[in-house]
Amino acid sequence: MAKKRPAKGSRAVKQSVVREQVVQPDYYAKFRCIGGECEDSCCRFAWRVDIDRATWQRYQACQSETLKPLLQEFIQPEPSPDLRRLGKFATVKFLPNQDCPFLNADMLCMIHKELGEEALCNTCAAYPRVVNRFGQQGEYGLAVSCPEAARVALLHPEPTVLVVGDVDGALARRGIMNFTVDGGARNVSVMNQLRVLILRVLQWRNVSLGARMMLLGSLLNEVSPSQGGPRFRDAAGMTSVLDTYATLFADPGYVEAEFEQLPGNLPRKLQYTTGFLADFLTGATPRFQECLTAFASGLLNGNANETAGSMAALMAHYERIYDDFYLPYFREKSYVLENYLVNEVLYGLFPFVRGSVIELYRAMVFNLAIIQVMLVGIAGHYKGLTDERAIQFIQSFARRSAHNDSYIRELTEAIASKDEPSFVEVMWMLKER
Ligand code: SF4
Repeated sequence: MAKKRPAKGSRAVKQSVVREQVVQPDYYAKFRCIGGECEDSCCRFAWRVDIDRATWQRYQACQSETLKPLLQEFIQPEPSPDLRRLGKFATVKFLPNQDCPFLNADMLCMIHKELGEEALCNTCAAYPRVVNRFGQQGEYGLAVSCPEAARVALLHPEPTVLVVGDVDGALARRGIMNFTVDGGARNVSVMNQLRVLILRVLQWRNVSLGARMMLLGSLLNEVSPSQGGPRFRDAAGMTSVLDTYATLFADPGYVEAEFEQLPGNLPRKLQYTTGFLADFLTGATPRFQECLTAFASGLLNGNANETAGSMAALMAHYERIYDDFYLPYFREKSYVLENYLVNEVLYGLFPFVRGSVIELYRAMVFNLAIIQVMLVGIAGHYKGLTDERAIQFIQSFARRSAHNDSYIRELTEAIASKDEPSFVEVMWMLKER
């Protein structure tokens, strides 16, 4: 990757940038796969690996003595015409121990070793990178379901800045495109202004993270007023909302006071969050299971026989481990969760693709609540938190949840109204205690 230059003027994604360049978060270029050193390798524990057409054809023609029989046995043609139309021509059949069959004894990829990086399928060649397009602008991002990507994306104290870099030739040649935002130039420009404001809200360190998320929900509510109508207000209507919200940065005390007024409900939050533990356990990697075990132990004070009858004692214990073990870490490292939210916005082009604006906001609130509650329990178990523990949970949770939205759907059904869904009705989950 060539040298990066700061994005002109601000963190804004400028439409004037020439197409041969891409916009990416400043940490993007720091990512390097650590291969055999990886503690939660993407080559293990049965991820679905889709094989694109060019790679499928190449594997069929492969004459390597070592690889040919493996490719014949473990690359399975995709029977569904619908999936083939989406470019998924085959999948990798994982071993009974859930390892990729192409991993060698040194935990390195045999295809990469024998045939070179260009022989990898698009999925393996790109991960954990994503390639997006916002209007005419190409963008790169990182998935925090990869441990090393999570470290570079989440552990920097400085706010994330977008920078302009050169196109990665290897990704470009493959034509990889994960998410796109389309529309006329005027609309794309206003949506870009909205995204700039979203990033500014999430990085507004003068107020708590909960207050920032409340403000974000309020902003999204204003720009997408009707669930049955268009996603966003027309460009002129949205610009005036953005201008109004920009004035709030002058008054952090007001925003924090508004957040203080929001009622919380810790017993309900714990009940819903822990209710999904069983779902999480299905298909969890050992790294994630370790987090769940630590959480349960920390929450129940090491007493697995703790019963629901002692809810008051459980709340008191939760508040104690929150104060004694969770808060000391996050007083110093509040940027970790801020960085997580900012990365979500950049990686998945939030809130422009992959669902309605309200669904995406709820999912973000729920995920943040789950991460906070789980980290409180984990902090209780280990009598404190470290970068390593925080990354272990956030990364392995992202890995468990990234390809399974069913728990978010179930959580939404349990918490939010179906008839008159609103942004406000999930905000109580933003209260930490
Ligand atoms: S999860 Fe990330 S660091 Fe680990 S092997 Fe995969 S790409 Fe490399």
